[in-house]
Amino acid sequence: MTDVAEKTNLLGMPKAKLEAFFDSLGEKRFRATQVLQWIHQRGADDFDQMTNMSKALREKLKAVAEIRGPDVVLDETSKDGTRKWVMRMDNGNSVETVLIPDGERGTLCVSSQIGCSLDCTFCSTGKRGFNRNLTAAEIIGQVWVARKAFMPFEPGPDRPITNVVMMGMGEPLLNFDNVVDAMNLMMEDLAYGISKRRVTLSTSGVVPAMDRLAEVTDVSLAISLHAPNDELRNKLVPLNKKYPIAELLAATRRYFDRLPEKRKATIEYTVIEGMNDQPEHARELAVLLKDLPCKINLIPFNPFPESDFRRPSMNATRRFQDVLNKAGYVATIRTTRGDDIDAACGQLVGRVEDRTKRSQRYIQVQQVAT
Ligand code: SF4
Repeated sequence: MTDVAEKTNLLGMPKAKLEAFFDSLGEKRFRATQVLQWIHQRGADDFDQMTNMSKALREKLKAVAEIRGPDVVLDETSKDGTRKWVMRMDNGNSVETVLIPDGERGTLCVSSQIGCSLDCTFCSTGKRGFNRNLTAAEIIGQVWVARKAFMPFEPGPDRPITNVVMMGMGEPLLNFDNVVDAMNLMMEDLAYGISKRRVTLSTSGVVPAMDRLAEVTDVSLAISLHAPNDELRNKLVPLNKKYPIAELLAATRRYFDRLPEKRKATIEYTVIEGMNDQPEHARELAVLLKDLPCKINLIPFNPFPESDFRRPSMNATRRFQDVLNKAGYVATIRTTRGDDIDAACGQLVGRVEDRTKRSQRYIQVQQVAT
């Protein structure tokens, strides 16, 4: 039996880690700059492509390192141009990544975990249970794969991906270090060079991790709020029982207070018929958010098989928006994109070998109910 040492995957290493890696090989640190550009700006996955490095160094790298991204098992484009990739991360598991083109902009929705442990009641991902955190290579690998789909893979102004939102499968703050490494690569000029205002982390409110985040980065922050009071939010976002709304909003204010420039939080509110869609909910929300500089994104609920919730009528959603606009907020309604390929918000499922057995419980509940 041969003892094959596992190779180091360079795909998920931000600049500082790559420099330390070259240090450990006894090589010059500037090699990190070259390798970053080859991987992330030219899509290289083979050291032999790196022609500005000597053959001897390339051989040395091949012996100890690799550049390995996720395998694409499905690549679908919706009628409206939304593109969804299902990417396999290991034998049983896959995650979904979605690119939403919109004029000059292209927003990539990236997953941070295989499944999710938080089980928000309106979210399809939550119903699939949880398997594990993605590595930094698997997170940035989603950006790398999506970017590679648009050749030529050269830096330039016509970028197909202008914005990244950590809003796919999983709660990013429960995979803190790997998400931070991957976001650093998204913003790194030698990699994707996306501005910090265009990299957004969306959280359901892991309050202690929000404070840690403020110490290491200044990306944009979106809060998955979905309810104007604790009683309702406890039902929609079970994490609220641990970190109620007052604590969540205080942590959000602390995050933005630390930034050198004025920026606004994004508040996400999934509008669900008969649950949180009434004008009084909108009025309550307007009062709740009065001290927080923010814009509000209303997301009409996207149905999925395990849920009894329904999408509200457009009239009800507009009425809700109107109350907020009249109270002085910028409130927009997110257009549903990609629902014909199940790529809309809250519909991402991937394939999860559920270690929490939650998915089995849902299947049992459904069988009893039908
Ligand atoms: S909404 Fe986000 S945090 Fe909640 S279950 Fe879905 S993926 Fe997890």
